[in-house]
Amino acid sequence: MTMRECRTAQGLLSAHLDDELPAALARRVTEHLAICGTCRAERARLAELRALLRSLPERRAPHELVDELREAAERGRRRQRTRRRVGVAAVAVALASGAVAGLDSEPEPAPSQVSMDELVSEHLSVRAVTGEELGP
Ligand SMILES: [Zn+2]
Repeated sequence: MTMRECRTAQGLLSAHLDDELPAALARRVTEHLAICGTCRAERARLAELRALLRSLPERRAPHELVDELREAAERGRRRQRTRRRVGVAAVAVALASGAVAGLDSEPEPAPSQVSMDELVSEHLSVRAVTGEELGP
């Protein structure tokens, strides 16, 4: 396998774990994992990290932290809008250069960014911890 394949696979691991990839792409990641110990180890590490995070006890967050998270989430949303545009351009370049030959599906919304949405909303679930409403 090449460094590029590993980078691609590792960029998709989170979505792969969440079963969010289109079938063809999920199959490619699964096939890559079957032959690449490095990416398999990375996937295991990611799964372990998630399990660990889920196992943490819930704690009431200080109000200052809630405010910081709220601001960080807003900054993240702004950056994400920028990244989405860059992502679409990158897919267009990759398609034009044939770099994703073998991808038989249409370009999908970048799965890693779908996961970012989820991560942000997980962070915003401090509402559940604090019992505080986080705005509209
Ligand atoms: Zn790999």
